[in-house]
Amino acid sequence: MIGTSSALIGDRWSNHGSGRWPPVVVWASGAVLVIIFALAAGFGLRTLLGDGDAPGGAGPGGGADVAPATSLAGQVIVLDAGHNGGNGAAPAAIGRQVPAGGISKECDTVGAQTDAGYPEHAFTFDLAERTARLLRARGATVRLTRTADTGVGPCIDERARIGNDLGADAVVSIHADGGPASGRGFHVIAPALSPDRANAAILAPSTRLATTLRTTFGRATGEPLADYLGQQGMTIRSDLGGLNLSRVPKVFLECGNMRNPTDAAELVDPAWRARAATGLADGISSFLGIPPASPTPRR
Ligand SMILES: [Zn+2]
Repeated sequence: MIGTSSALIGDRWSNHGSGRWPPVVVWASGAVLVIIFALAAGFGLRTLLGDGDAPGGAGPGGGADVAPATSLAGQVIVLDAGHNGGNGAAPAAIGRQVPAGGISKECDTVGAQTDAGYPEHAFTFDLAERTARLLRARGATVRLTRTADTGVGPCIDERARIGNDLGADAVVSIHADGGPASGRGFHVIAPALSPDRANAAILAPSTRLATTLRTTFGRATGEPLADYLGQQGMTIRSDLGGLNLSRVPKVFLECGNMRNPTDAAELVDPAWRARAATGLADGISSFLGIPPASPTPRR
């Protein structure tokens, strides 16, 4: 802006140098222009700065818009990136049965992948890390259930225990589905009463977390609600160890269908994942009573 106006004034100098206006007059009019442009630029800069903490505002690339650093202070959030990069090579380890809330289930599974071979474990880990960065910038204490994408497990009961032992305020298990190729969209899975009836206390808050996340994730990504299962982007299940064993509010988020070409094109896109992270962080923030940075002035 400022560079442009200087160039413009320079042009005026040379245009008028041929004698129509005395140089002093030209200089004066140029000076007035400089002042006008400077004022305009300053105003524009202030406007930009004022919008700096706009929400989902996810600027170009959707990156690091951050709310005031103390807003989630004291809140403990667990992000559970589904599956793991080493699971495929460890069938015995992940295939063993573990307690899952009145039923037993496999320790872990390999997960889905796109037709082109982008694996769910890589997607979930990337999204968990992005979301953790946003939440930490907002002041939260964030723990991931795995810190690399090359290991095996942990088993679903251990994943649940991590949230329980920390007394987490919210836990989100991040996944992408391997549904029918014709179906697309995302959905949230909330807990139903587990077979051992031990997760009763988390049903209400988990449902609230689910509905909040459904709103913010859809808004941030533009991803439609799943059209191939559930109702309005939601399913309620009692067959998932991660939900049956949780004693703290927890949901699963299936971010899209890896087998659907339209969804797959989004899931592999880092810019889309940045928006997805914003949607996740905003949903968790709202659930915890701290609205994500909003368009409304905060001061
Ligand atoms: Zn999964």
